[in-house]
Amino acid sequence: MTFIEGYLLYRFKPSHVSEFAYCSKAFWLHYHGLTLYRENNDIQLGRAEHAQKNEESRNPWVKYDKREGDILVEFVKGAEGNIEGKRHQLLVYLLRGGFHYGEVRLTNNKDVLSKVTDSDEEILSLRNHLEAMMVCSSLEKPPETPYGLKCQRCSFRDYCWVG
Ligand code: SF4
Repeated sequence: MTFIEGYLLYRFKPSHVSEFAYCSKAFWLHYHGLTLYRENNDIQLGRAEHAQKNEESRNPWVKYDKREGDILVEFVKGAEGNIEGKRHQLLVYLLRGGFHYGEVRLTNNKDVLSKVTDSDEEILSLRNHLEAMMVCSSLEKPPETPYGLKCQRCSFRDYCWVG
């Protein structure tokens, strides 16, 4: 059975685990405490929704359900992108809670975007991901990453690309 050492499993915020798959530079900047004064409307809206839902429960994005004698962990997200990152983030929740199975679902229509289990293969993939995050987080400067579509909606766009 493949496992992840505790220091590695609890080393990063689960949201950072997902973000690293989205963009290693964005992860590095957030990890080192950089937040921007000016944020785009999408991020402000998301932050407001998150704050509102936080009043309703401790972690509004994670739900637990009983199915066929086992606990199903639902990780509910508003957008379809960065599935690999969301899968890693959900697996962190599974392993920390001792659960075996989870689903990434869409907020609106509850479509299942991806299913995650605590299989050796998935745990090994997450471990490699976390080890890469360790390396990245210890860099003195943020890693260079290419411009892409994701940059157009990123709050760091001006920081990264406008001289
Ligand atoms: S603007 Fe692009 S490169 Fe810069 S942090 Fe955002 S996604 Fe990454």
